[in-house]
Amino acid sequence: MKILQALLGAVAAVSLFAASASAQNYPERSITMVVPFSAGGPTDTVARLVAESMSKDLGQQIIVENVGGAGGTLGAGRVAQADPDGYTVLLHHIGMATSATLYRKLAYDTLNAFEYVGLVTEVPMTIVARKDFEPTDLKGLIDYVKANKDTVTVANAGIGAASHLCGMMFMSAIDTQLTTVPYKGTGPAMTDLLGGQVDMMCDQTTNTTKQIQGGTIKAYAVTSPARLKIFPDLPTAEEAGLSGFQVGIWHGIYAPKGTPAEVTERLSKSLQLALKDENVVARFAELGTEPSSQEDATPAALKAKLESEIARWKPVIEAAGQFAD
Ligand code: ASP
Repeated sequence: MKILQALLGAVAAVSLFAASASAQNYPERSITMVVPFSAGGPTDTVARLVAESMSKDLGQQIIVENVGGAGGTLGAGRVAQADPDGYTVLLHHIGMATSATLYRKLAYDTLNAFEYVGLVTEVPMTIVARKDFEPTDLKGLIDYVKANKDTVTVANAGIGAASHLCGMMFMSAIDTQLTTVPYKGTGPAMTDLLGGQVDMMCDQTTNTTKQIQGGTIKAYAVTSPARLKIFPDLPTAEEAGLSGFQVGIWHGIYAPKGTPAEVTERLSKSLQLALKDENVVARFAELGTEPSSQEDATPAALKAKLESEIARWKPVIEAAGQFAD
């Protein structure tokens, strides 16, 4: 028995040593960053900008893999199941918190399935519609959708997505249920909005800015507390008449539970550098957002944010009473 215990102890010591030795040399090969939405959408845009910059510091490529579906929960589930070796990470947004309540059954336990790297950015949303949609301002939009509630369609990226959350907030603020059309991400939803196959959407500025500026879609309001520098003429939802309608879509990077702390710390240092990278800062500004602070780009800050956001949205979602299985 004693010999067996000694042997087991030795095996554990050797594997601990191996894990910490490989954490010291990390990363030795490319890293996969899972984005739980389609390519070309706003979460993907943020991920690719940050991944490119982090790759330079890490000396290894970060390859973005899009695993869209079920409002981001498929991609998150994939990372929860991945080896905790630092070679698979997840870049997700506020949906990580809202899906914890929205889904009756998730394939992972949100608060216990991940390690944390840090916060990346918080992006405002915009309420937009296809170019030839009749209403010209938010008040007109509200009147119009109330009068045409059986025909107006609203795109989103599935239950748990930011666009779903914002759409739900809009419908509950105006007390009108509209038909929603789910996509695997708002990249393809934007294609349909541009093509006129769907009427409206609420999505991050990281997806809508170019089209609003180019006049290829109509914008009615931003969901930030103040107007944005890039859209000085676009009112906030609050000032345009939707009282308390504010939401910011925060993004964070996670790793599977059990990923060594040396690895998440290394990734966090790299994230902090990326968020100071002039190219990243400039691109974020063009897209109506800014990088998270250096203090927020840390494991502790992301953990605290996720916990507080689950607590913040739980009562709101429960009151709305719409859940997914
Ligand atoms: N913006 C999308 C959302 O609704 C996700 C995406 O495609 O990036 O959450």
